[in-house]
Amino acid sequence: MPIIQFKNVSKSFENGKDIALKDASFEIAEGEFCCIIGPSGGGKSTILKIIAGLEKETSGNVTKPENISMVFQSGALLPWLDVEKNAELGLAARHPAPGGHQTPDRGAIVRPFIDMVGLKGSERKFPRDLSGGERQRVGIARALAVNPTVLLLDEPFSALDPKTTEELHQDLIRIWQETKKTIVMVSHLIEEAVSLADRILLIKNYTIEKEFKINLPRPRRENEAAFAHEVLQVRREFFK
Ligand code: ADP
Repeated sequence: MPIIQFKNVSKSFENGKDIALKDASFEIAEGEFCCIIGPSGGGKSTILKIIAGLEKETSGNVTKPENISMVFQSGALLPWLDVEKNAELGLAARHPAPGGHQTPDRGAIVRPFIDMVGLKGSERKFPRDLSGGERQRVGIARALAVNPTVLLLDEPFSALDPKTTEELHQDLIRIWQETKKTIVMVSHLIEEAVSLADRILLIKNYTIEKEFKINLPRPRRENEAAFAHEVLQVRREFFK
């Protein structure tokens, strides 16, 4: 059984004038790491927003679980809160302390996730004292702390330098393997998608035009011939 299913899903704005998605159909299996790639303005973020419940499809059928968490591009941290409090934000939004009752120990819940993303010892630091990569790590810890069924990432590494991106790729794969979450990630980089995903959905003309199953063993190395071959297959369709 797929955990996410889109059947002929379309999304338009302003009474059909602006199209974001047209007749898109795909399925994502539980535990899968799926990347959505495609040109800018193609409808990638719209798919994530529909899965997250931030947008509603105009027509078609969407099946998705309730407990979904999103990681935004720059971590989306509040500058006046420290790492631990920023990581607690998702929990606070879902389980606000009832009036007059003691606040639940959210710190105890988030600390293992701060540890998991490699920020143990940085709990009391503020965003201004963190690098771009560390901020994104806090965003991932926050998303994981609510124990989501599906983790959504919208171009999470696009503002980072190549070395930091590579480190975060490795950590994301480790976290995915440890937590067994379903991950849906938007990227505009073919190499990134081939390096991370079990399956790549290529979006073009506002719909899913092609799917690629990436059977390469992990860890994947960009300098290997099999990797270059997969990138070439995807690139051919991307620029067709
Ligand atoms: P991508 O993530 O692939 O860059 P998006 O899903 O953000 O693409 O957008 C797909 C298309 O839908 C774009 O052409 C965009 O201009 C349009 N779109 C997205 N949101 C809105 C909106 N709120 N109003 C009108 N058009 C929108």
